[in-house]
Amino acid sequence: MSSDRKILTVTRPSLPPFEDMVGLLREIWDSGWLTNGGPFHERLEAALADYLGVKHISLFSNGTIGLITALQALEIEGEVITTPFSFVATTHSLLWKRLTPRFVDIDPRTMNLDPERIRAAITPSTTAIMAVHCYGRPCDLSAIESVAREYGLKVIYDAAHAFGVRLADDNLFDHGDLSVLSFHATKVFNTFEGGAIVSPDADMKRRVDQLKNFGFVDDVTVVAAGINGKMNEFSAALGLLQLRDIDAMIERRAEIDAHYREGLRDVAGIELTGPSQAARPNHSYFPILVGPDFPLSRDALYKRLRDNDVFARRYFYPLISTFGMYKDLPSAAPANLPEATRIASQVICLPIYPMLTADEVDRVIAVITEAARA
Ligand SMILES: *Cc1c(COP(=O)(O)O)cnc(C)c1O
Repeated sequence: MSSDRKILTVTRPSLPPFEDMVGLLREIWDSGWLTNGGPFHERLEAALADYLGVKHISLFSNGTIGLITALQALEIEGEVITTPFSFVATTHSLLWKRLTPRFVDIDPRTMNLDPERIRAAITPSTTAIMAVHCYGRPCDLSAIESVAREYGLKVIYDAAHAFGVRLADDNLFDHGDLSVLSFHATKVFNTFEGGAIVSPDADMKRRVDQLKNFGFVDDVTVVAAGINGKMNEFSAALGLLQLRDIDAMIERRAEIDAHYREGLRDVAGIELTGPSQAARPNHSYFPILVGPDFPLSRDALYKRLRDNDVFARRYFYPLISTFGMYKDLPSAAPANLPEATRIASQVICLPIYPMLTADEVDRVIAVITEAARA
């Protein structure tokens, strides 16, 4: 192993040219307006509404505060149906609001909540569904919505992975009562830290905007126990620059996705998941499943990759439902979550980010194909 070989990680944030940021920093310094709905905040909000094709969007300091605020805005109580196959913030947001998560198994094809299993898990205490567009692959929107309508449940989509995903004749963000995005450094679109909530109408956006600003409606009136979820001017300015190149970045991700699919297509025991059903996927992740007929276990392949300076990640392992604060919930029992449990034990997310070169993708493919020959 050569010591000068670059370490590949699962994701690497993309950044705009430094010089472009300098000019925007100058503007922030000159105006002295650092946060609280400043000019860059307003510009980014408008630009994102336009780019995502939505009318009402509120910027946040991060996605997790966005999820908690969404639950507060909709006044969710009792039990919330959710997926164990996600990043832990999804379920933690429920605990912060003292809600009871009820884990439901995923559909192994989409890796998202299985609508039939949602139906079977509804109890008189169920008030909402918190679904995740895992890896940016859309949930079964119509099936989830018909269950929700039938039982009078609210739907919150954790769309942290779904920035830029487009459907053929529909908009992903027009679904559910609220959608929450994350602009964390590891996501397809980033503002270092950041996030957003998409609201269906102006009244809901107003409520969300109040809640992210301590519950203030004007200088002297506070109507709810809001939080500080505001995005600052630095992050908003950075976001405007990131947005300029976002389509090219997603296009580059699509090329890497295609390159992996070509290179790994015939490797026995490796299942290439997807592809996404979206008309324009965002290729935020490249998850593969290491099946029982691959010569190495998932963990052995994961280690083999690391030994070759490829730091892939086992997203999402361990399942959220196995963590100490959740594992004693009846719905957390592995027998209730067979598909999620199996997939968590087989999944590896390979490096995918715009700066990854074709040679580097070949290097990852070579490690896996050589392991397959063992
Ligand atoms: C990243 C992520 C979050 C949290 O977003 P932050 O901006 O890091 O707080 C929530 N849910 C999912 C599925 C995520 O991947």
